[in-house]
Amino acid sequence: VKKIAVLTSGGDSQGMNAALRAVVRSGLYYGLEVYGIQRGYQGLLENDITQMDLRSVGDIIQRGGTILRSARCEEFKTPEGQQKGADILNQHGIDGLVVIGGDGSYHGANKLSKLGIKTMGLPGTIDNDISFTDYTIGFDTAVSVVVDAVNKLRDTMSSHARSSVVEVMGRHCGDIALHAGLASGAETILVPEVEYNLDEVAARLRENFAKGKRHSIIIVAEGVGRGEDIVCDLKECHASIDARVTVLGHIQRGGAPTPFDRNLASRLGDFAVRSLINGESDKGCGIIKGELVLTDIDKVVNTKKEFDRDLYDLALRLSQ
Ligand code: ATP
Repeated sequence: VKKIAVLTSGGDSQGMNAALRAVVRSGLYYGLEVYGIQRGYQGLLENDITQMDLRSVGDIIQRGGTILRSARCEEFKTPEGQQKGADILNQHGIDGLVVIGGDGSYHGANKLSKLGIKTMGLPGTIDNDISFTDYTIGFDTAVSVVVDAVNKLRDTMSSHARSSVVEVMGRHCGDIALHAGLASGAETILVPEVEYNLDEVAARLRENFAKGKRHSIIIVAEGVGRGEDIVCDLKECHASIDARVTVLGHIQRGGAPTPFDRNLASRLGDFAVRSLINGESDKGCGIIKGELVLTDIDKVVNTKKEFDRDLYDLALRLSQ
């Protein structure tokens, strides 16, 4: 391996820059040429590729977003688009591609690997919905943004004895809701992985208020539905429930990455480069129980992320 390229794709996440920095610096350390592809697969198809040097990734470890920028690219979902991307990489003599992104970006990397491009996936998404890694890059920061917001909501909710419904991101995965819910002491956590009954949720809210609770926080993963609809349904169950909705939206994707995300990104970025040098390819890089692991990217994209039911039950036990 002599020349590698790196791109960031799909929804951006905090820590993508730290991962990019690690790929570039590690590649240069091991004597490789490193190229940056702008705007994900869109930039690849537009041949928007430039050589990176040590300074091109300076002063970014602490920054959210991605200096390579990101994009969603419909053309790349077609076989013709994928072939064009592979041809462009081959024309540049690139013999290793690191894709930093979420599930969709991994699908794209998998398609390229089937066309003979040596690929490595780095899980860059706040959603934590990639299999064979305990954590994705950006998840920890997103959870801390949610927890910070819930802390603020608690102040005003308890003054008015209200319930707060907080809609959080995560696509079809409930991990942001679960981890933020546990960390913020939410009373109810609604996730797509666990069925719920809104009558029971409403009954519990009323019981807890009767027991002297001053406020309650209900975290709703976007995969369950809109927070606004949950508020309407709750009011239908029990007219006396005074609930307000807060949709955190893209705030969850912004801000400086936590030290955890920076270190995860640094370890995984370096691991991807070393793995390519060692002859590995077509793998997703992950961390499981603290150990760096490689898994066939085809297997990663075809396996649904396991939901931590024990953690969910713990959150329930502690939220009475
Ligand atoms: P996040 O989930 O954090 O938003 P993501 O990587 O899943 O990130 P997507 O928009 O789903 O975001 O995917 C990013 C890009 O990857 C798409 O715009 C498209 O170019 C490419 N892609 C997605 N799915 C496929 C697929 N099945 N085959 C080829 N390319 C794909």
